[in-house]
Parts: sequence; structure tokens; C-alpha cells
Amino acid sequence: MDLGIRGKRALVCASSKGLGLGCAEALAAAGVDLVMNARGVEALERAAESIRAAYGVNVTTVACDVTTAEGQAQVLGAAGDVDILVTNAGGPPPGMWHDWTRDDFLRALDANMLTPIALMTAIMPGMIDRGWGRVVNITSQSVKAPIPQLGLSNAARTGLTGFVAGTSRQVAQYGVTINNLLPGIHATDRANALDGPVAAKEGIPIEEARARRAATIPARRYGTIEEFGAACAFLCSAHAGFIVGQNILLDGGGTNATI
Ligand code: NAP
Repeated sequence: MDLGIRGKRALVCASSKGLGLGCAEALAAAGVDLVMNARGVEALERAAESIRAAYGVNVTTVACDVTTAEGQAQVLGAAGDVDILVTNAGGPPPGMWHDWTRDDFLRALDANMLTPIALMTAIMPGMIDRGWGRVVNITSQSVKAPIPQLGLSNAARTGLTGFVAGTSRQVAQYGVTINNLLPGIHATDRANALDGPVAAKEGIPIEEARARRAATIPARRYGTIEEFGAACAFLCSAHAGFIVGQNILLDGGGTNATI
């Protein structure tokens, strides 16, 4: 299917690896020029070069921490008038509710709620002026069903979800859509970071921890970044203008709910 977005420009945050990279690749495959971001320069440049070579699109890189005010100023400066915004950043660490301090909460809120809100606030006025825009926020299945040890993530992402629920309905009349993609377990470094401690605690190899977790998912496997990117690119496509303020689970059926 032609996604109808060839020649448009996208800012894809936190995109040198994992789900962000999957989104960047799928948008590039649809002919979209990219601004890619991550903190580590090496992986970012490698990913950008491989996308340029594979798809022939223009890719600008911005190596910075997108959760800081300075980082946001850098990516926004490079992005200019983008048509598509994909927000993403690393997730907060797991832990126990009684150990988290106010500073831990502020860090999580900054990274996973206030950063996407700041980027939307800066970029959407231009989209509204031009009468077209697509925003996709990468959140988590924890928005629909809490993951107890990820309380910082549960809290911050639910806050973002509330903001999007209202705001998406204010900007839709201008041709701008905001939707959230809710990943369940995908085969990325983040999944390894969560499987590693489980393997250590149980005294089993990480492959065994992974296999046990995969067995709890109806699809019996982890998702791929290609599947995730394809869903993101569709939400950013010309065909998705009537999809507004939705929270779309990509979790292999992992969230046990009727609707
Ligand atoms: P990942 O494989 O660890 O990749 C994270 C990417 O983001 C890397 O490119 C990383 O590069 C970049 N990044 C991280 N923090 C950044 C920051 N502050 N500023 C700029 N770039 C940053 O993670 P992932 O699995 O793709 O996860 C992406 C998001 O989805 C996370 O918030 C995660 O919690 C959430 N999620 C993932 C899963 C899953 O199963 N994978 C499930 C639910 C939710 P640098 O390190 O070089 O900056």
C-alpha cells in the first residue's frame, strides 16, 4: 500500500535502536525524510547511514538527551517544520513503590510525559497552520494494564495518555492527529534489560527467562521492531486521518481484556 506520505519530513525521537528505529525505518521506506535522535553518536550514525543507503531519503542526526530542555531545543532546531512527530525515550527503571523518591518521579515524568508534551506543544502549531500533521507517541501496554514493578512508567505514561485524550480532540479539526502506540514485549535492548534481572534472580540463563515470558503471551513470542514500525507508519499515513486519540496495543494479545 502506498502510504501517501512520500516527501514529508518526520522527527523520530530515540531512534538509533529498538522501537524508535523500527518507526524510522518504516517511515523511510514510505519515502519520508528523517530527523533521527539518540544520545549515543555511534549507533545513531550507523542507523542513519543504513537508512540513507537502503531508502535514499535525507536523514539528519541529532545526538542529545531528548528529555532535557537543551536536548529538546537541539532536536526542535534540526526538525523545523516537520509533518510527522514520533515521540520516544528510554523507560524508567523497575523497582518498588516504597523506594521511589520525588526526584525519581520527576525524572520519569520529565522523560515519559513532559518531554512528549513539550515536543507536541512546539511542533503542532506549524502542523495546524499547514492543515496536516501526524503525532505518534510510543507509550506502553502498562497504560491499559499496570505492570506493578514499573510504577514510575505506569504513572508517567498514564499522565501523557490523559493529555493526549483531550488535546487530540482539539487539534483533529485542523488535520492533525495524535495517537499512542502501546508496546507489549518486543525483542529490543529494553526487553533484555528487564529479562536480565529476572534471570539473575531465578538463577537461570536469560534465554530461559525470555522463553518463560514469551510463554505468557498469546502469540508465544516477542514482537519485532519491523511490526511496530509498520503500525507507526500507517498511523502517520494519508489513510489514517480519521484515527484520533486512540491507544493501540501491539502486544501479541498479552493484555487480557475484551475491549
Ligand atoms: P531500546 O531498545 O533500549 O532503545 C531505546 C532507544 O532510545 C535507543 O536508540 C536509545 O539510544 C534511545 N534513547 C534512550 N533514552 C534516550 C534519551 N533520553 N534521549 C534520546 N534518545 C534516547 O528501547 P525500546 O525497547 O525501543 O523502548 C522504547 C520505549 O518503549 C521505552 O520507553 C520503553 O520503556 C517502551 N516500551 C518498550 C517495550 C519493549 O518490550 N521493548 C515494552 C513496553 C514499553 P541511546 O541510549 O544512545 O540514547
